[in-house]
Amino acid sequence: MPVSPSDEELIPAIKDLRGANPTLGITKFQALLLETHKEWTVSEKRIRKILQQLGLGPQNGSDAASSKSKSNGKQYPSSKLNEALDVKQWTSKVEVKHFGKLKGKGLVASEDIAEDETIWKEDPFIIAPEWYACLRPLADHGLTTDLREIWDAQRASVACMHCTTPIPPSATLQISCPHTPCPAKFCSRLCLSRSAAVHPLLCPAQNPASLPLLRWAREVEWMAVHAWAHTTAKILLANEKGADELAAVRSIVDSLATFSLSDRARDIGVEPDHDAWKKAHSFHVAAFHEPSTAAEKKKLSKLIRKPLPADLAQQLFDYDAYLEGLSRMSLNLEAHGGLYALHSHLNHSCQPNASIRHLQQRTTLARITVLARRPIKKGEELTISYVNPAMSLKDRRRELREWNFGDCMCPRCLEEEAAGETGEGVADSDARPEVDVSDLERELRQGLGLR
Ligand SMILES: [Zn+2]
Ligand SMILES: [Zn+2]
Ligand SMILES: [Zn+2]
Repeated sequence: MPVSPSDEELIPAIKDLRGANPTLGITKFQALLLETHKEWTVSEKRIRKILQQLGLGPQNGSDAASSKSKSNGKQYPSSKLNEALDVKQWTSKVEVKHFGKLKGKGLVASEDIAEDETIWKEDPFIIAPEWYACLRPLADHGLTTDLREIWDAQRASVACMHCTTPIPPSATLQISCPHTPCPAKFCSRLCLSRSAAVHPLLCPAQNPASLPLLRWAREVEWMAVHAWAHTTAKILLANEKGADELAAVRSIVDSLATFSLSDRARDIGVEPDHDAWKKAHSFHVAAFHEPSTAAEKKKLSKLIRKPLPADLAQQLFDYDAYLEGLSRMSLNLEAHGGLYALHSHLNHSCQPNASIRHLQQRTTLARITVLARRPIKKGEELTISYVNPAMSLKDRRRELREWNFGDCMCPRCLEEEAAGETGEGVADSDARPEVDVSDLERELRQGLGLR
């Protein structure tokens, strides 16, 4: 029977295999790994996470939300409170609470909440769609392009460049980016106008210097690089608008949990991959700060007219700060690739009382709905699961450790630990998996009107 290898077994195997196959796609890489280790079972997701942490390509940030736990004296993600965050714009049912230095911030119910009640809906701060969110149905739909990803669908003008909602070829409303050449299409006038906060700096017509960065991020499937590019564009364009806009955007970014990529590499016993990190950094600087050609410089200077405050330039373009930005993205992206100001406050539990759904697939795919999975009492903390709660205690803890979260000490884990469960084969009747890849595929199919 196949066994799930430990990190100590898996990481060296992945390192070896990656060294010999640096550009292999994730599916083929997984097949190769399992061929070399026939006794193992290892999910694609786990391989992706390890590769990301090693800085070795195919990357993602799925199911990592923010957390601030700290235990066992080790370094865990840290975050700070955003005093300026106006929670009431989303809901009156929750409030932000600071639990103290070790646990950090979280959300608690400010009133009793019923089972299945919608707690809030939220549009993303930025969205850098997941590479492998499958869009094969588009090909079935008579489009000849090899569209497998939302990213590709956006570039092929069949998904909204702002909110990622699929735009079927039959849609009556087709709004294009007014600048050419740019493939961007928008699903509504609202999305077109909102896209002004990010798109100009990522538009191939308005800022061609961004193309190499975006192409490379796509090629190596490094989601955090893509997300940090969106966030950087949003910060830079807010600076153009004024001090208040800049402060509002920065307060959201600065409150996101972060960890050190170098510490993380050291924790799992590998050398930090500075080559990959430096490459990402130099593409980033060329895209938004120092383009390599005079023509690109000229175009960028039309979008960025104001000087940057020194501390902002440091945060966006300094190498160490760049890595911190990547870790913020990795930790806080929702499964679909969006970064959400309030959602990023939710802490983890293996017995979560809330769940995230993309309920408006046909209209606003990127909007999340936070639902109560069971009645929640006033004062109770709201939690979601960062990992699939159907997994065993051992596997849940392992996945969480991969994200630097330490051993989960939620009531369910403590109970299972006390009962001496190794966790193998534990069935939890309450375990409903969160949005995962197959859920996303189903949602996207629904979004396209396909079954
Ligand atoms: Zn849209
Ligand atoms: Zn454009
Ligand atoms: Zn737990």
